[in-house]
Amino acid sequence: MTAYSPDARIAKRAQELARSLAQLKDNPRVLNIRVIVPPEACPVCQEVAGTYSKETAPALPTEGCSCPRGSEAFYQPMLSEIYP
Ligand SMILES: [Zn+2]
Repeated sequence: MTAYSPDARIAKRAQELARSLAQLKDNPRVLNIRVIVPPEACPVCQEVAGTYSKETAPALPTEGCSCPRGSEAFYQPMLSEIYP
């Protein structure tokens, strides 16, 4: 039996975040990218919370994060409003 190590879990999460960021960047309806951070997250994570352009969105999970359960920051798209 192979134990599911925390490192593997974090690596999988990093992969998912990278993929979601790539998808948001590819989507023309996405104007900006917001980084959402839970209120109980560590100071390093708190620092990256905010709204970014597609070009400046930071890589997640945050480097140097000390959240007990690993970084829980995630991307949220800010869509352009399209009126028919
Ligand atoms: Zn953190």
